[in-house]
Amino acid sequence: MSEKQGRVLIIAGSDSGGGAGIQADIKSVTILGGYAATAITAVTIQNTLGVSGVHPIPTEVVKAQARAVLDDIGADAIKTGMLGDIAMVETVAQILAQAGIPAVVDPVMISKGGANLLAPEAVDAVRSLMIPQSALLTPNAPEAEALTGLPVADLDGQRRVGEALLELGAAAVLMKGGHVPGDTVTDVLMTRDGETTFSGERLDTRHTHGTGCTLASACATGIAQGMPLEQAVARAWGYVHEAMRLAPGLGGGHGPLDHGW
Ligand code: PLP
Repeated sequence: MSEKQGRVLIIAGSDSGGGAGIQADIKSVTILGGYAATAITAVTIQNTLGVSGVHPIPTEVVKAQARAVLDDIGADAIKTGMLGDIAMVETVAQILAQAGIPAVVDPVMISKGGANLLAPEAVDAVRSLMIPQSALLTPNAPEAEALTGLPVADLDGQRRVGEALLELGAAAVLMKGGHVPGDTVTDVLMTRDGETTFSGERLDTRHTHGTGCTLASACATGIAQGMPLEQAVARAWGYVHEAMRLAPGLGGGHGPLDHGW
């Protein structure tokens, strides 16, 4: 492991239930030994049963949060999550361009409970502004389908869509397999130099809230700490798997993961 602590600027939405979004991000970065700072894009009213309200933060306030962090504390990597609408995508894309540090982009679209966390008309902006700035893009199957128009029904589909996302300008794609049917879940890490797969038995649990946020943040932490990409993703994958396995079972719906407490 690198000796660098690793500062991660998280640009994402707040989940009042503490299971996903900024809260999952801060917990993951912290447990993995990194330093978490945040620029909050939206406040969601949320628990394990679902999202009952979304309150966007003004774009100039998001920009100011990022500037305050970057101008003083600095960051070794940025992780982006929920963006909400076109104006926020444009704002965050501008922050990434100015920061010039590796970005892990989680193209969050719809929550497991069905809430829209990205306006459908903002998908084009994510494709054109966020993907080319991604050191690592971490889509699930429905997100990859929306971004490319290609179906993702199996591992071959994951690979095809991963190639398409690399062609759109991502430096690396972690094409997640949680939404692809089968007893085994395979995530495929793809770069222009080749691929690495991460496979495990599908866990029989409803406590999967925040898995995407957690995985992306854990990857960003490793990158911030100076790990090679493959090592950062491997550690993140193991972290999420354990966090799901040990989930505390809180709430009546999709409960949060375990973050070592
Ligand atoms: N709430 C916020 C603020 C999020 O950023 C996300 C996912 O990125 C979610 C909810 C959805 O989490 P899940 O789909 O894991 O339930």
